[in-house]
Amino acid sequence: MDIEKIEIQGDQHIATSLQTPLRDDAFSISNAEKIERIQDHFYKIMETLGLDLTDDSLSGTPYRYAKMYVTELFYGLDPANRPKISTFENKYGYQKMLVEQDINIDSSCEHHFLPIVGNAHVGYIPKDKVVGLSKINRLVDYYAHRPQVQERLCLQILNDLQNTLETEDVIVVVQAKHLCVSSRGIKDKDSLTTTQEYGGVFANADRRAEFFNLLKNK
Ligand SMILES: [Zn+2]
Repeated sequence: MDIEKIEIQGDQHIATSLQTPLRDDAFSISNAEKIERIQDHFYKIMETLGLDLTDDSLSGTPYRYAKMYVTELFYGLDPANRPKISTFENKYGYQKMLVEQDINIDSSCEHHFLPIVGNAHVGYIPKDKVVGLSKINRLVDYYAHRPQVQERLCLQILNDLQNTLETEDVIVVVQAKHLCVSSRGIKDKDSLTTTQEYGGVFANADRRAEFFNLLKNK
């Protein structure tokens, strides 16, 4: 293990691919089994830190931690949990920009397993398909709940929406604070990271300006 390389990579937050790196056997064991195993490992981590696991306040922590990982923080790793998104025919022929803004982001950085918190703003121009608005929020929530890198999160939301809506004309902006930047390392409490990914007509600077103007005028 090259410790120096590991530390440099973590602080640069490099993503290696669009797909979340998962092994083929990622879902060969049940969630109950995963919780049991993680509980075991986390017990050992706490024990290694010198904590007294017989203390009433600490004894349930390994289980709570394991359950939180599998069923809450990282539920978005499992493709079976992707929200079902039914699309509707764009019957009223709406062809202007639709913006869903300030969608909560509750994610975790894959380099430090610390929270990434912020907002996503999504815009699209419908062709033949439209989706219920809350479905966009659900999709963002799903991709956020896995170990992430902000750039990849932005791209995964964009690609899914482009496929679902059957149009390239989608823009996704994510603004978030990374606890691995504010609570450790450089310990900068104020900096905010912004990423944007877009396709189709949003390659045009005027369309992006229109989108950002709509975000301002709430
Ligand atoms: Zn990090």
